[in-house]
Amino acid sequence: MTDVPEIPVRVRPEIAALPPYKQGKQAGSDAFKLSSNENPFDPLPGVLEAVRSASALNRYPDATAARLRERLAARFGVPSEQVHIGAGSVSILAQLVLATSGPGDEVIFAWRSFEAYPWLAVLAGATPVMVPLAEGARHDLQAMADAVNDRTRAVIVCTPNNPTGPIVTQAEFDAFVERVPSDVLVILDEAYAEFVTDPTSVDGIRVLGNAGHQNVVVLRTFSKAYGLAGLRVGYAIGHPRILDAARSASIPLSVTAQAEVAALASLDAEAELLERVSVIARRRDALVAALRDLGWAIPDAQGNFVWFPLGEETLAVAERFERAGLIVRPFAGDGIRVSVGEEESVEKVLGIAASVVQDLP
Ligand code: PMP
Repeated sequence: MTDVPEIPVRVRPEIAALPPYKQGKQAGSDAFKLSSNENPFDPLPGVLEAVRSASALNRYPDATAARLRERLAARFGVPSEQVHIGAGSVSILAQLVLATSGPGDEVIFAWRSFEAYPWLAVLAGATPVMVPLAEGARHDLQAMADAVNDRTRAVIVCTPNNPTGPIVTQAEFDAFVERVPSDVLVILDEAYAEFVTDPTSVDGIRVLGNAGHQNVVVLRTFSKAYGLAGLRVGYAIGHPRILDAARSASIPLSVTAQAEVAALASLDAEAELLERVSVIARRRDALVAALRDLGWAIPDAQGNFVWFPLGEETLAVAERFERAGLIVRPFAGDGIRVSVGEEESVEKVLGIAASVVQDLP
């Protein structure tokens, strides 16, 4: 880095200590980008057309994205007060953490999981409490419930878990929520819900129908299954009071009109988009089966990505993927997450995995 002179402006020490957000590497023209769990399909023409004809750029968007809220409410059979739209589900996650948790409070989540969780807790001034994953890289919901105490304000459950892949089952989640006090917010992060094929999986929307679960809020996104990562639009479904608090903690007008109409057009084309999702899910299942046949201990994969548990070999193996034109996401000392992308990229992943497995200790 170039030498930037110090200036006396005071930055909160916990913010100054945060590492900058590290995006998955951008791919060169001949490489496959498998580092951000994006959708490999091009946008549908109808979605592109909707974006082109969205309202004028000199006008502000509708602050609550009311049309999209109503549409999602109808889609899930809930009142529109139970739907909240954000500029990506990560921004709603930030709002929920800010709304519930501050200095002295604790935010519990599994680890390893989505990297934004510890970062958002620290941003809010709260203390992240990371509960190690259990056998099979699954959430240990018993240990997470054990970790709840008087300081706990929020618990985040990620299913399927990014980056390791397994789901939380309905039975596990129900038992967990029973044990969490009703004044603690439970955030069920279902960013990859549409890719799930395991019938035992928790279904956040069904959970919300249960009166005993009013402290649960479900997060979903148009970034993954619907292929709109670049436009930034996600949503939360939950109790209106929780969503009011999220709104109060939000930066107004951050969901663009373009994002809203693209999401609406995606819901119009949902059958076609979900057909693409099942193509990816089948590709994923075939990849996992082939990798296991090769001897890899791949955990259950229910999102649009697979997890290679590589420990200390992680960075060296990531380099081998990269040399072969596959940009993957390494987590040093732990493992590599590889998105399920184009058919050709999956074949290449398998080829590298076959040669690497022979060289592992
Ligand atoms: N939750 C999880 C588990 C994720 O992996 C991601 C994206 N990587 C998000 C939330 C945020 O997605 P977005 O903000 O694009 O909706």
